[in-house]
Amino acid sequence: MIRGRRLLGGLRPLLAAASPSASPAEPRRPFRTGEPRLYDPVKDLEKGVIDAYKKMKDFLPGSSWHPGHITEGLPPDHADVVIVGGGVIGWSIAFWLKMKEPQRNAYRVVVVEKDIKYSKASTVLSVGGIRQQYSIPENIKMSQFSANFLRTINQYLGVVTQPPIDIQFNPSGYLFLASEDGAALLEENVGIQRREGAEISLLSPAQLKKKYPWLNTDGVALASIGLENEGWFDPWTLLNAFRNKAISLGVYQSCGEVKSFDLYTEELRTHDGDRINFSRIKGVHVQMPDSIESTKIECGFVVNAAGAWSSSVAEMAGIGTGPPHSMLGIRLPVEPKKRYVYVWHCPDGPGLECPLLIDTTGAYFRREGVGGNYLGGLSPTEEEEPDIQDLEVDHEFFQDKVWPKLAHRVPNFQSLKVKSSWAGYYDYNIFDQSPVIGVHPLVENLYFATGFSGHGLQQSPAVGQALAELIIDGKFKAIDLSIFSFNRFFKGNKAVERNII
Ligand SMILES: Cc1cc2nc3c(=O)[nH]c(=O)nc-3n(C[C@H](O)[C@H](O)[C@H](O)COP(=O)(O)OP(=O)(O)OC[C@H]3O[C@@H](n4cnc5c(N)ncnc54)[C@H](O)[C@@H]3O)c2cc1C
Repeated sequence: MIRGRRLLGGLRPLLAAASPSASPAEPRRPFRTGEPRLYDPVKDLEKGVIDAYKKMKDFLPGSSWHPGHITEGLPPDHADVVIVGGGVIGWSIAFWLKMKEPQRNAYRVVVVEKDIKYSKASTVLSVGGIRQQYSIPENIKMSQFSANFLRTINQYLGVVTQPPIDIQFNPSGYLFLASEDGAALLEENVGIQRREGAEISLLSPAQLKKKYPWLNTDGVALASIGLENEGWFDPWTLLNAFRNKAISLGVYQSCGEVKSFDLYTEELRTHDGDRINFSRIKGVHVQMPDSIESTKIECGFVVNAAGAWSSSVAEMAGIGTGPPHSMLGIRLPVEPKKRYVYVWHCPDGPGLECPLLIDTTGAYFRREGVGGNYLGGLSPTEEEEPDIQDLEVDHEFFQDKVWPKLAHRVPNFQSLKVKSSWAGYYDYNIFDQSPVIGVHPLVENLYFATGFSGHGLQQSPAVGQALAELIIDGKFKAIDLSIFSFNRFFKGNKAVERNII
């Protein structure tokens, strides 16, 4: 048996010793509403960050004053939890860590984001969909939790002095079409979904035709449609809502790039005499823009929420750099895969009742607003995977691969006109296409929340809660997500989701 993993008990027992922030909360002035802003963040920055930080403490939570202005350039030198990556996953985890605090200001949580404009972050380049139609029960449970979260988002993420959050939720079912070959699988998946409490309806081609007269049902043997908890919403709004709320609860935002970790490594022996190195991350080096030297944050726990870039963050902890066939030789198998989204106009296209349709070929589309606009795309085959150096869009891919499939399924789309397009990266797990959630077995204070491909946005509320449980309580509580642990790469156990888009 292997000794180690002394942190299994989670953060709670370590709190007292973890950092200076672990001292009891200071008494707080009640926050004020309707008062003018009392200071200019730029001037305060000039005067000194320490002064500004004191003011920040007076105003939190919920003031219109934005602590991000102050913490932007300067990470603290200690933190209980450092989250690498300030996308929707990173900020959700930060929010839930604060929500689960037994007492205010018990933990110091820092989110480090290298690109504050989010120019390449998957979160803001996603199409905002949420669905219940998965084949892995844990995926269904996560989306069910998230749907409830989004429905009551203001109870979770509302900040008293700010306007209510409008996530711009468009309720609309996902319509999965299956060919003769795929019909049995679709039916099996729907069985799983219904057992998990999802409201999903099966439709024959005749029922489809009646419900959606604009649809060509050639080659369709069966279809399923979600009757609730499916649709799409605005990704930016969710990201900002998590971020605003987390900052209002005292989370630090640091705008810099994590470049390296300080590791403490200890060699342990198994009963068989094998030697195994266990490591802990003791410090996180953050390179701030316009700064020559990196800044170090001493830390208790680190979360890798770096999306499509998370494999290189894992490498900083030695993961994937060990000898082949050793445990540290197994890399985090998450890679960026470029995915195109095209927006087109078609005045004669499907109307308000248009679902988010996933064709038998994998091509998908949905309505975008109500003016005859749509968006959609198709995941390329392995041979067609585009170069990932940049986020340029391949317009021929639409012309040659996507449009013919769409026009076959919706004949009115033959006359569509492409208006715009963009590309983003899926954080794609090449091992089994499922997320990686949990701690690394050898780097005992490094946690992962990555590898979500095309469903990280909708799962972010549930994933944030799960990671906070793991870190604070040492185990999953609301939803057991151990199926997605890093250990499966050692054991060769794949968590295969059959409903991937
Ligand atoms: C085209 C497209 C469509 C999609 N559609 C949907 C959908 O309909 N529904 C859905 O649920 N999901 C969808 N997704 C997936 C979803 O967008 C992602 O799974 C989710 O946004 C992942 O969030 P994240 O926070 O992990 O990653 P990101 O948003 O990419 O955030 C990671 C952040 O980490 C930062 N970072 C990286 N390295 C470092 C470092 N060393 N130091 C500091 N910061 C670092 C990056 O700058 C980045 O901002 C789609 C994705 C794409 C590309």
